[in-house]
Amino acid sequence: MDFFANMPRDPFADDPNDPASFLEEDEQAVPLTPEERASMEAELRLVGEFARALKPRGIDGIFFLCDDCEEEHFYEWEILGNNMRAALNNELAPVHEPGAHPDPTRYVPWDYALGYLDGMESR
Ligand SMILES: [Zn+2]
Repeated sequence: MDFFANMPRDPFADDPNDPASFLEEDEQAVPLTPEERASMEAELRLVGEFARALKPRGIDGIFFLCDDCEEEHFYEWEILGNNMRAALNNELAPVHEPGAHPDPTRYVPWDYALGYLDGMESR
């Protein structure tokens, strides 16, 4: 399962004046298919579990290497959840919005968080 394949593509990805922000809320993204919606709802629940499990251990969120700008993007749990909720409402999520100088040591890849949760459950 490729989690980020379900993220809506940022229509401003190639625009140097990327206006991505929550001010763009009346712009409509391509509606999710029922399958995309179901998997995003499952992932949204996972993000809640990640936050509960990892936040007390000093992990603030997820990072991933962006295919569009080839930079790592950092998302706090809350921001990730908000982006997913926005996508579920067919709103554009600000994919490239930079965080406020995130500390890279406090972010993990999605697969790490997933593995961490699995490890907890098998204990
Ligand atoms: Zn990017």
